[in-house]
Amino acid sequence: MSVAGVELNAAEAAPQLLGTVVAVQANYYQVRLDAAHLLPAEPETLEVTQLLCTRRARLKKIGQQVMVGDRVLIEEPDWAGGRGAIGQVLPRTSELSRPPISNVDQILLVFALAEPTLDPHQLSRFLVKAESTGIDVVLCLNKRDLLTSDEQQQWCDRLNQWGYEPILISVYQRDGLTALQQRLSQKITVMAGPSGVGKSSLINHLIPTLDLRVGQVSGKLGRGRHTTRHVELFELPAGGLLADTPGFNQPELDTAPEALANCFPEARRRLADTSCQFNDCLHRDEPNCAVRGDWERYEDYLDLLEEAVTRQAALARLKDVESTTKSKTKEEGQVQQEPKLESKKYRRVSRRVQQQNLKELYKDIESGLVEPD
Ligand code: GDP
Ligand code: ZN
Repeated sequence: MSVAGVELNAAEAAPQLLGTVVAVQANYYQVRLDAAHLLPAEPETLEVTQLLCTRRARLKKIGQQVMVGDRVLIEEPDWAGGRGAIGQVLPRTSELSRPPISNVDQILLVFALAEPTLDPHQLSRFLVKAESTGIDVVLCLNKRDLLTSDEQQQWCDRLNQWGYEPILISVYQRDGLTALQQRLSQKITVMAGPSGVGKSSLINHLIPTLDLRVGQVSGKLGRGRHTTRHVELFELPAGGLLADTPGFNQPELDTAPEALANCFPEARRRLADTSCQFNDCLHRDEPNCAVRGDWERYEDYLDLLEEAVTRQAALARLKDVESTTKSKTKEEGQVQQEPKLESKKYRRVSRRVQQQNLKELYKDIESGLVEPD
């Protein structure tokens, strides 16, 4: 084999340059490389772990978006300049819309056992919201230092009944954090939870170099920047990536009524054993329902179901408004030859009806039944 041939083979066998998009800003993508690239530099070697990349025009042409969390192939790296171009996006295993992150392995839900008092309904709501994504949920309860071990055990037993095995921690006492770190290792995790539970304190412990300010409303990891839709994955020292979500205390649910039961592990367990008589059973008062029963969160299920049904009706009304608007445009086109006055009158009535519908919709949005986009 010729020397040239060997060289060619070596070039063919060159490993592809793979990485994960950790931040997106305008048309630039910060890509964290799977393996660091060593750059000979004076006086010592440089280690390149990230490249600032653009997206190949080819991808733009086929409408291939690049989002945080994407696994990408990088072409033509400019090691000295720290630049590259994304040539390909590997298929996504999951895709969250809020925050917009792909390939998320798990959602870490953080609550406090006390201060603020652990409200089972609020927790339930967060759990359902997280479950509705179909992504694995890890439940973490902070501030265990504020509860007796009996009280802690009671919560664990209760949450076991719900179908969860919470990780109890105390950031203050550096307690339970190793177990949590193990769960986060080598995975992409999105953290969520109400404010005041210790999320910033936890992130400070997990990623000391970030140094977030604790107990503030903004200026924390991404929380201030989230208002400008900035999403970023931060690297955990032990491997793995972590993203924070903006602190909110009452997540909006957008689950369809028929999909809600699937967001409760207790209901899923029941449905795995037996099925309901009716395929479209909403598990309210239908005969021979496998889900209805005396499990603790069944009342929560009914409350959220009612909310989902109301929301669905509001959305149907919105569609009505849209179709009215569309048909109006069409009719306007058709009535062009009619006297102006007639047409104006028609328009005025129509607009009033429309505004009425919109008003009702806004009311629903304000009361949290519909999520504005
Ligand atoms: P965030 O709003 O979820 O980011 O919560 P912060 O990290 O800002 O913490 C809220 C408050 O809880 C702060 O006063 C923290 O000092 C306190 N805190 C955080 N972790 C613990 C803990 O493990 N035990 C106790 N008792 N308080 C904690
Ligand atoms: Zn049923």
